[in-house]
Amino acid sequence: MKKVYGVIGDPIGHSMSPVMHNDLFEHNEIDATYLAFHVKKGNLEAAVTGLKALGVSGFNVTVPHKTDIIPLLDDIDPLAKAIGAVNTVVNTNGKLIGFNTDGRGFVRALLNKGLSLTEQKVLVIGAGGAARAIYFSLAEAGVKEIDVCNRTVEKALSLKEACPFSVETKVSSISEAEKTIVDYDLLIQTTSIGMSPQVDDTPIRFKALKTNCFASDIIYNPLETKFLKEAKFIGASIQNGVDMFVNQGALAFEIWTSIFPDTNRMTENVLKQLGGSSC
Ligand code: NAP
Repeated sequence: MKKVYGVIGDPIGHSMSPVMHNDLFEHNEIDATYLAFHVKKGNLEAAVTGLKALGVSGFNVTVPHKTDIIPLLDDIDPLAKAIGAVNTVVNTNGKLIGFNTDGRGFVRALLNKGLSLTEQKVLVIGAGGAARAIYFSLAEAGVKEIDVCNRTVEKALSLKEACPFSVETKVSSISEAEKTIVDYDLLIQTTSIGMSPQVDDTPIRFKALKTNCFASDIIYNPLETKFLKEAKFIGASIQNGVDMFVNQGALAFEIWTSIFPDTNRMTENVLKQLGGSSC
């Protein structure tokens, strides 16, 4: 019988996941389909009960349900539990088990660029849901120093305090971080600033960066944010959010099928949907 997978969220109409995963099922000769389900906040419990009753094999979870879904699951991976957010669910013998592949997907994307993570002095800009997944996953991967700056400093502080892995972290405002930005090997922009249509905005200002600095922005629309343009102009290597999106999807596909898919194929597929080329 054909297996059914999907993604739940609100809004969901622009999700690139259905095209990406359906292509992977076809390419790997798996008899399955992946659908987008528009689930409003008040309908989450009914939707999850329904997906379980229908025997859906697995699904992704996106805004605004990543945290609210946790008490509705039968079990949760320790990293997802620590992060407090789930983006991937697998149905194993009728039990729904939650994972978070966002942060580990980001880490994979960095490793694919040849970075030796343990040697990096890292600055994470932002302390929202995505920053939390990235910070915990970098700490899990053994990065020794990850500083965090955010508009709301208390949120950065609570992120640091909740991390189950040992990591040295200084927390600051964005304006304080600007003064020492030249010290960092790796800058990770995780705020929503610079996202289309506000493409002329950037969260942090700098005139110089460390030699060989690597700047990563998790936004993929536009493919090159103002933050990335400014970092590139000064000489940094850059990476946009397509790689994170593809790798979180690849890890979800692996959880569902035990097959790690062709990420180059996935990147081409996503870029086609976005109408551009990656950096
Ligand atoms: P979130 O939880 O709402 O966090 C938003 C972050 O942006 C917070 O740090 C927030 O600071 C900051 N921020 C928002 N408006 C700001 C402003 N005007 N000035 C200063 N800081 C501001 O969102 P999220 O889920 O982490 O997502 C953040 C971005 O990542 C989005 O653009 C999303 O599309 C992208 N994303 C990409 C991927 C991928 O696969 N590539 C995956 C997940 C998310 P405060 O704490 O002070 O409010």
